[in-house]
Parts: sequence; C-alpha cells; structure tokens
Amino acid sequence: MKPPPFRYHAPTRLEEVLELLVRYGGDARPLAGGQSLVPALNFRLSQPGALIDLNRVSGLDHLEESADGSLRVGAMVRQRRLERHPLVQQQWPLIVEVLHHVAHPQIRNRGTVGGSLAHADPAAELPALALALDMTLTVQSPRGKRTLPAGQFFTGMFATAMAPDELLVEMQIPPLSPEAGWGFREVARRHGDYALVGAVAVLEVDAQHICRRARLALFSVGDGPVRAQKAEALLTGQAVSEQLIDQAAHLAAAEDIDPPGDIHASAAFRRFLARNIVADVLRQALKNRVKQT
Ligand SMILES: Cc1cc2nc3c(=O)[nH]c(=O)nc-3n(C[C@H](O)[C@H](O)[C@H](O)COP(=O)(O)OP(=O)(O)OC[C@H]3O[C@@H](n4cnc5c(N)ncnc54)[C@H](O)[C@@H]3O)c2cc1C
Repeated sequence: MKPPPFRYHAPTRLEEVLELLVRYGGDARPLAGGQSLVPALNFRLSQPGALIDLNRVSGLDHLEESADGSLRVGAMVRQRRLERHPLVQQQWPLIVEVLHHVAHPQIRNRGTVGGSLAHADPAAELPALALALDMTLTVQSPRGKRTLPAGQFFTGMFATAMAPDELLVEMQIPPLSPEAGWGFREVARRHGDYALVGAVAVLEVDAQHICRRARLALFSVGDGPVRAQKAEALLTGQAVSEQLIDQAAHLAAAEDIDPPGDIHASAAFRRFLARNIVADVLRQALKNRVKQT
C-alpha cells in the first residue's frame, strides 16, 4: 500500500523541529531512520498530518564519553554506528551483542538508537537494554529539557512518557562497574526477526561470589520491556549458585512477567522460554565480565 498524504518538513535546526511539533499539536511524527515509521505509514497503521525529518538536523548524532565515564548518545546515532564504535566495543560489549540481534545490518545502517527507544515496541531489544543498563533519556520541547530514567520512559505498548511536543534528544549510558558481568539471549524464528522472548542481565558479583546488584530485563513478554524485579531482589545479597539461578529464573517466568499469547507463541510457551533464557543470561553474566581479571 501507499501511505496516506502528509506534509513533509526537513528542518536543519532543533528549534525548528520543536516549533513544528507544537504547530501540529500531536498530528506530526518525527522521521528518524524510517525503519518502523515508513512500514507503519504504508500499512496505514499511522496516519499523521506531517512528517518532520530529523536527518538534516544538527546536534542529534553525537557519540561521546563524559567526564564521569558515561556515554552520551544522540538520538539520531545509527544503531550500526553504536555497534561498531571502538569505545562501545571495549567498554559496553553487551551493547554490541544486543545490537547484533536487532534486525539486519542494512536496517541498523538506517535505524537510529533514539528511533527504536521512542517507538517502544515491546518486542524490541533496545528498550530492555535501556532498563538493564539504567540509561537515562533526555527529551526536549520548547518548554525545556527533562531527563527520565528508562524505567519511567516506557509506559506501555508503543507508548512513552513523551508529550506530543517533546522530542527524544539524547540517551546517557552509565559506565559498567568493573565487577559487572552481562548476559543476553533471545529466541527468534530466524536471526534478525523480532524475538519470541528475550532477556538481558547485568550482575555485579564480588570476589566472595555475592551478588551486589542485579538488573534483569525481558522483552516480548508484555506491553513493554519488563524488569524482573522479584528475581532481582532474590539474587541481591545472595551467593550466586546454580540453585539460586534456577530459583530466580523460575520466579522471573512465573511472577515477574505476564506474557501474551498470539499467533507466534502461546503465553505458556513464552513463560517456558523465559525461564530457560533467564537461567542462561544469569549464567552468562557470571562468565562475561566487563573487566577480565
Ligand atoms: C525488516 C525489519 C526487521 C526489524 N527487526 C527488528 C528487531 O528484530 N528488533 C528491533 O528492535 N527492531 C527491529 N526493526 C525496527 C528497527 O530497529 C527500527 O530501526 C527501529 O524500531 C526504529 O528506528 P528508526 O530510527 O528507523 O525510527 P523511525 O522508524 O523513523 O521512527 C519510529 C517511531 O519513533 C518516532 N521517533 C523517531 N525518532 C524520534 C525522536 N528522536 N523523538 C521522538 N520520537 C521519535 C517516530 O515518529 C516513529 O513513531 C526491524 C525493522 C525492519 C524493517
């Protein structure tokens, strides 16, 4: 199908984008990589009055380390650029691993980090990664800037806390502790497809094998990315053993998630997958240390 008619704007300054968002009062969509928006237009799932193309806007594609060691990522940074950046490969190998599973290289060449987060697809990898890494997201409107923890940004299926006149402008990714280990796994019918279920884990485990901090996020199991908070609480402060991993995986699958059943998988099958995947990512997190000693 062809998209319905829309007006097209190609501003070069952020202020113009924000003015246009106000002018259309919720009837305009920012166009980033177009990898989700253009198919939605073609299927007429989205019928905005105007598109505001972000591709010529300056100041949205920075990728740099801050003095405190966190990474600042402009909303228009392409997923492929983040994946291939030497600093990311060295200090955030989890990001590289996760991005390998987002669609295909051609799509990641155009798709942006901000576009994926703003789209808030419950089956997407990056929103769950944002929860596991405790990212903060900065949104901007003519009223000013707001910074939200990822846990407050995602509010439901394809829904975020952004107001219609706000644009996602930047993500901040805090440094991982040297004690941190990470794990990622998803099950999809084919590599590059949206996952039936996936999970991301970041564990801080000390020399005595005590888990000091646990972050466990799942996707494709609810209306948005889900933090497995009961499983995290069970792990925190405990010596990590195979038995504890098994208990945490059981708890995450039984109580932290409420997966949907659809043509791709039943809810019961998604819980079964979640239990196995969570156990896997926790075991991986004991092995994949950020700083090898
Ligand atoms: C065949 C195919 C397979 C795919 N497989 C996967 C997959 O396995 N996993 C996955 O996660 N994704 C997958 N995707 C989606 C892909 O990752 C997209 O790149 C991503 O979801 C959207 O990024 P984008 O930059 O293309 O955003 P766009 O498509 O341009 O925009 C998406 C939405 O976000 C809004 N938006 C964009 N930028 C901003 C901003 N800065 N502020 C506010 N709102 C904004 C737009 O208005 C639109 O509503 C797939 C896409 C295709 C075509």
